[in-house]
Amino acid sequence: MGVIERYKRYLPVTGKTPIITLEEGDTPLIKADPIAEKIGPGYDVWLKCEGLNPTGSFKDRGMTMAVSKAVEEGANAVVCASTGNTSASAAAYAARSNIKCIVIIPEGAIALGKLAQALIHGAKVIAIRGNFDQALEIVREMSEKYPVTLVNSVNPYRIEGQKTGSFEICDKLGHAPFYHALPVGNAGNITAYWKGYKEYKEKGNICRLPVMLGFQAAGSAPIVEKRVIKDPETIATAIKIGNPASWEQAENARDESGGLIEKVTDEEIIEAYKFLAERVGVFVEPASATSVAGIMKKAQDGYFPDNSRERKRKDIVCILTGHGLKDPDRAIKCLEHPVVVNADIDDVIKEAGL
Ligand SMILES: *Cc1c(COP(=O)(O)O)cnc(C)c1O
Repeated sequence: MGVIERYKRYLPVTGKTPIITLEEGDTPLIKADPIAEKIGPGYDVWLKCEGLNPTGSFKDRGMTMAVSKAVEEGANAVVCASTGNTSASAAAYAARSNIKCIVIIPEGAIALGKLAQALIHGAKVIAIRGNFDQALEIVREMSEKYPVTLVNSVNPYRIEGQKTGSFEICDKLGHAPFYHALPVGNAGNITAYWKGYKEYKEKGNICRLPVMLGFQAAGSAPIVEKRVIKDPETIATAIKIGNPASWEQAENARDESGGLIEKVTDEEIIEAYKFLAERVGVFVEPASATSVAGIMKKAQDGYFPDNSRERKRKDIVCILTGHGLKDPDRAIKCLEHPVVVNADIDDVIKEAGL
């Protein structure tokens, strides 16, 4: 069962909506004690592994809604600008519903796995000599002038689908987490999670809301620096965005929740990326490690006071937005290459250090 069927009473669907699904959602929420140890006493850290969605990122939650509604409304083509995962997801859901998909990407700035996905699903992929923000401007105009449905997160159905992530977290924990950490790029996801938590509280399913902790990459941190970044730079390509579409909604989520949006450097992202893989056993793409890098940095700043004397432990949920296999080049680049020896057991044993 996908997220529409599971949560349809919270979503703008009717009996007439064709449900285009790849059985997205219901992703693991796993406990990560090696990270909790770095946060401090009295905290539990949980990782929401969104890389286990059908196309390997959280974008599938929003795409099942956006494509279902597009088909309901009679569309036969969807279009998106993408740093990679939106195009992978749009291409798959378009293939599933047999409609056309057009994808505009910044040339040379897409992780290889994501490009492969868009191509193999049969999307028309067009690379522009420009960045994501320019690509988004182009597709916005295209969808105004031509009969193609825009499926970026400015499409409100994307946000509706993505808010199911917060429902799943609350259903699993039995309450909202105390803190909710996630990377912020175009800011659709922070908008969606905050909307989901608020709606769940209104329905009486949870009794309090989390503190939202958003993190941007230092070279691509428009919300933190309160200015549009013309040439954003970061190894975390999924959040390499200088003018987020949901800027204001992200600030609202931060302010209404008493939270923050701060930045982490590429070095801190890579450190968290390796820590997650080596110590927790979870391989994510660099952008996804931003949430963990963020809470580790805040812990060092003393943001999480000793909670061991409180009656209740505090939960921190980090959203791990996409799978590590999307961007294998990055993993290889930041690690030592395998040593080559002769095909001889003695040489292998010596090298293995046994
Ligand atoms: C899209 C994406 C993000 C950023 O989400 P926004 O909704 O644009 O803020 C972060 N990480 C990954 C892996 C993504 O695909």
